[in-house]
Amino acid sequence: MEEKLIAPCGMNCSLCISYQFMQNDLNKHGFHRQYCPGCIPREKNCTHMGHKCVLLGKGKLRFCYECADFPCRMLKSLDKRYRTKYHMSMIENLEFIRDNGMKKFLEKEEAKWRCPKCGAVICCHNGLCLDCSIDMLLQDKKYRWGGE
Ligand code: SF4
Ligand code: SF4
Ligand SMILES: [Zn+2]
Repeated sequence: MEEKLIAPCGMNCSLCISYQFMQNDLNKHGFHRQYCPGCIPREKNCTHMGHKCVLLGKGKLRFCYECADFPCRMLKSLDKRYRTKYHMSMIENLEFIRDNGMKKFLEKEEAKWRCPKCGAVICCHNGLCLDCSIDMLLQDKKYRWGGE
């Protein structure tokens, strides 16, 4: 995992379905998903998050924890959605990076999201390894975390 794939809001773009689809060109299986190279590489605000934050929009901060309003209402609501549906927390990520540094964060993320079967990175949006379990998504395009 790479630092440039950790977005200012605390999202780890390497877990994102739009990033993983692009990385492995998964639309070749007949999907029609938007591809995204990650928040920092694309130099625009994330399409999923729909941020309306001026500070982030202008690239004033590398991470939200540098902001006087951290964690703002917008970030809290994003965080709640991700904690409820996608097994991760942006705010927790940001606090960990702030307190322990990027290197430790990336190590922790690699361990947390490693596919036990093949070692690739599991996607947080569906809980699947798109390397070895793409069949699950082919059977049910809306599959998410075992139908939770
Ligand atoms: S859609 Fe958003 S979360 Fe996904 S890779 Fe792009 S910037 Fe990151
Ligand atoms: S904490 Fe909120 S207001 Fe501050 S930079 Fe992040 S999204 Fe913007
Ligand atoms: Zn796998």
